[in-house]
Amino acid sequence: YEKPNSAGVPSNSRVLMLLGQLEKINGEAMVRDAETARQVTAKILHLIQTQGESAHTPTCHATSYSVVLCINTRDVQTILNILYILSELLTVGRGRRVGVFVSKGGTGILFQILLSNSKELPPSEELMLQLHSLLAKVGSKDRKFGVKARLSGALNVTVNLVKQNLQNAKLLLPCLQVLRVYSTNSVNAISLGKNGVVELMFKIIAPYSKKNTSLLKVALDALGALLKSKTNARRAVDGGHVPVLLALYLDWHRNDTRHRHMLIRKGLLVSLRNITNIKLGRKAFLEADGMRILYNSSTECLPVRTLDPLVNTSSLIMRKCFPKNRLPLPTIKSAFQYQLPHVPAAGPVAQLYSQPPGVDDVVDESDDNDETEADTENDTENEEDEKDHHTSNDDIETDLNKLHPKKNPGRPFEELRVYERFFSELSEDFQTASSTSSSSSFSSSTAPPRSPRPIIVPTAQALSPKLSATRQIQSPLLLGGIATRRVGGGGGSNWGSDCGSEGPEDEAGEGAVLEVPDTALLLPLHDPDVYVEMVKGTHSVPQYAEVAYPDYFGHITPTFREPHQERVYGVQRSKIFQDIERLIHPNDILDKVVYDLDIPSCPVIEDDGESLKFNSQFESGNLRKAIQVRKYEYDLVLNSDINSNHYHQWFYFEVSGMRVGTTYRFNIINCEKSNSQFNYGMQVLMYSVQEAISGRPRWVRTGTDICYYKNHFARSSIAAGGQKGKSYYTLTFSTSFRHKDDVCYFAYHYPYTYSTLKMHLSKLEALRTPQIYLRQDVLCETLGGNSCPLLTITAMPESNSNDHICQFRNRPLIFLSARVHPGETNASWVMKGTLEFLMGTSPLASSLREAYIFKIVPMLNPDGVVNGNHRCSLSGEDLNRQWQNPNPELHPTIYHTKSLLQYLAHIQRAPLVFCDYHGHSRKKNVFMYGCSVKETVWQSNISATSSDLQEDLGYRALPKILSQIAPAFSMASCSFVVERSKESTARVVVWREIGVQRSYTMESTLCGCDQGKYKGLQIGTRELEEMGAQFCVALLRLKRLTGLRNHQHLLDLESDIIGSHCPTTYVMDEDEPSFLEAIDYSAESNDEDAEPENEHGSEAHENPDHLDHLSDSETNHRD
Ligand SMILES: [Zn+2]
Repeated sequence: YEKPNSAGVPSNSRVLMLLGQLEKINGEAMVRDAETARQVTAKILHLIQTQGESAHTPTCHATSYSVVLCINTRDVQTILNILYILSELLTVGRGRRVGVFVSKGGTGILFQILLSNSKELPPSEELMLQLHSLLAKVGSKDRKFGVKARLSGALNVTVNLVKQNLQNAKLLLPCLQVLRVYSTNSVNAISLGKNGVVELMFKIIAPYSKKNTSLLKVALDALGALLKSKTNARRAVDGGHVPVLLALYLDWHRNDTRHRHMLIRKGLLVSLRNITNIKLGRKAFLEADGMRILYNSSTECLPVRTLDPLVNTSSLIMRKCFPKNRLPLPTIKSAFQYQLPHVPAAGPVAQLYSQPPGVDDVVDESDDNDETEADTENDTENEEDEKDHHTSNDDIETDLNKLHPKKNPGRPFEELRVYERFFSELSEDFQTASSTSSSSSFSSSTAPPRSPRPIIVPTAQALSPKLSATRQIQSPLLLGGIATRRVGGGGGSNWGSDCGSEGPEDEAGEGAVLEVPDTALLLPLHDPDVYVEMVKGTHSVPQYAEVAYPDYFGHITPTFREPHQERVYGVQRSKIFQDIERLIHPNDILDKVVYDLDIPSCPVIEDDGESLKFNSQFESGNLRKAIQVRKYEYDLVLNSDINSNHYHQWFYFEVSGMRVGTTYRFNIINCEKSNSQFNYGMQVLMYSVQEAISGRPRWVRTGTDICYYKNHFARSSIAAGGQKGKSYYTLTFSTSFRHKDDVCYFAYHYPYTYSTLKMHLSKLEALRTPQIYLRQDVLCETLGGNSCPLLTITAMPESNSNDHICQFRNRPLIFLSARVHPGETNASWVMKGTLEFLMGTSPLASSLREAYIFKIVPMLNPDGVVNGNHRCSLSGEDLNRQWQNPNPELHPTIYHTKSLLQYLAHIQRAPLVFCDYHGHSRKKNVFMYGCSVKETVWQSNISATSSDLQEDLGYRALPKILSQIAPAFSMASCSFVVERSKESTARVVVWREIGVQRSYTMESTLCGCDQGKYKGLQIGTRELEEMGAQFCVALLRLKRLTGLRNHQHLLDLESDIIGSHCPTTYVMDEDEPSFLEAIDYSAESNDEDAEPENEHGSEAHENPDHLDHLSDSETNHRD
């Protein structure tokens, strides 16, 4: 297409005519007709130069390329003319024309010309200059440029030119530009390094001079690219260049007062950044006082926002070079050990305790592949994150056998028959009055404490003279002379009696009465006295004798909204700088241990009142150590899960002795996950006892300057799945306290203890009406001696007529479980919502009970919850990875829950729905994971026969309904892919072995929602409980669907609604929940772009290294 251009037409045709002539010469024998060729090319050049844009029509330049590219001459002037023509043509239209040129093989021709003319001695300077200018232009657009250069032998030509023309800036510049592109290829980088190019670049960039800054910039870019190779980085260190780079950086920092040479300064830092990827480089950096130099220069840069890229890169380098410390612990094994009945030889516990002392926490500063010469270009900052990303795809189950129902159910019915007693509703005939009073109340059946010990409740009334000799923490609460602090210890406690006693204060608590806020109306399931009763029957490994105030008083959801916290600009950076100051100004650091569980006789270290007091010796507490690092800053170390050496994320501890109006900074320094919702608006939870006593017993979202980042504490490979060079992460937050003499609690999420569950279950009994069938059984005892409750909830039969008994027995079963992971307390709050709804008096609740029999195991891991674990049970294992082969001794709750399901499968009563409630630490909203062969096969691209793809969409109905009625629920986050790593989870095993098509994990956010009615808000217990209630409502809708016709047609029907975009078409009036305003139909989500993600898998990361790219020159082409 040619633009009509009256002025252009004649000149175009003239160029075309000349090109034709050139083509003709070329076709014949150009060598003989050198003079003509020279003239013709000169004329074309002249025309193009004088006609400007009008000569640059598509036909014209396309033709010209083809002619020019097959040129075959040794005449320097003709070649120059052609190079000038190309230069003119490629200058206009930018990338697109260069692209055409590359696609026609232009790069190769240019390299040929370069090679053949470099043999002339001396080579024509003008020709070399023009060639390199063109190559530089082409290089960034040709993905294969590096390979082509190497194979044609061009690398050495350019290098030699640079070596011979160090003083010739005019020729040097294009040569360096080409060299810069060569160096981005990792193989080239090594080869160039061998030829002395690293040294050569250092010659060009040093010493400091403002002459020829463009040259300098290009040389720095090339150097930066070369130093990505570890061999080259080592070469630079050996050549003593680290101090040189630092000195140069400082020179530029001082002299570039108007910040005109940002790219040069950034270039120097990039070189340092790449050198410090190797251990040797980090050592040289520290020896050259790099920390102080970069710290000081960055501090001076901080006020100027445009210098952010420099500060960010400096901070990255400093973090990397910060000497790795080990955690300030004698061992990373849990402070408590539980003696297992037997230790499986190959299990994690055996491994843990067979290690010789001292090897469990080795500081490992090696590069991941220090020994091997593999020259990968990994930025060590990103390595593990990238790994995380890959696993989500590699993890899809591709073995079709594992995607089909397991043929053999595994256990003979004789073995399962004993579970019949948990299903008396399936045989009960209601003919005798006694059988209806649903038998074994769970709370009354709990075994008495094995070693009776005094339970210390938050009241001073319990004080008896007998206890005065035991450990007694002075009451921090003297409210109008009324002490409200518990006292205690002694009995079977581990803690000695000689610590912390403050004689004169002892009487302070005597006879005092704790003011318990009256919450009976607001919290119908809460009762402090019942709570204390329940605590007495709870068994913890450390034999806790104290009760935390929040669990005792209860929690009432605040009436105000708690929006996501906006992240303050630069907060991570400023926190990291404060960490770096520890190294630079070591004398400012107190390093005073104020709490230490590793001193069991005296964990609380008393002092002059200058420090906060910490405590976590209560149910679900897990603080191991607190170190005061600055006057108002504390490093906190969490305990590992019992019988393990890691899994830290959950926290729950108490603080007292605070000053009012002072801002304290807390750093939890041994977090393990690579990212956290704390970076995306989530705050920690705080509970103030003073507030509670004033009538506001509640957890509130608290904390400013919150951020979560990788720190300088090394993670032993033993605690990191064998991976070397890993670090821990810090969660940091700041807060101030409003009340003097307060006791405050901090938690990862709303605590929900095992004793709380028992209290709630006991209070649920009181909600029973004659219409409700509620039975509480003890499914089994845990390793730690706690009972695992099993609930059966349904409606009593309408009468004891045969028909009604029959209807009663034949109700479909719904099987629910929760809290297999102790750190996921949100799951318990959702479960509380479900239980309360099921026991409610609403017509919906009655219909629901009449529709189904609910079997519920509300806490699959009581021991983990009691002992403050994050992930595991006392066996040191993740119970949600034991479902394929649970061991009756080590995993009793899983073994027996699975047995219940196996029993049901045997009697042809497999549940309609199975759902295990969980919490998700790195995603927002509430969502479900299910199992679908079809969707797994689609995701994995494995070939499958059409019979593998015959699957109805019934599994999608429940989440779809939830997305329509539950404001926190998001269909877009749901996934129905079966992952390899999940093959032994409840969801997959119940689906595959028990044959439950609707087998789910329901994940609730710890943070909040980014869609629907709660968008922008942090989640609270009200929303979580509502979620549990809405789950029930959704089940009722599912029932309406399944009840409309016989079972065969159910699936079609469900498929219909899934395709439907009008959710109201199948909604019956009576389905509406009583709290109508809570329903947000606008929350209709689309499931087209559902993205599968692991239950606890990877997530996108905020990558500081990617944020700081300023350079316009960092080309990133690889072969
Ligand atoms: Zn979980």
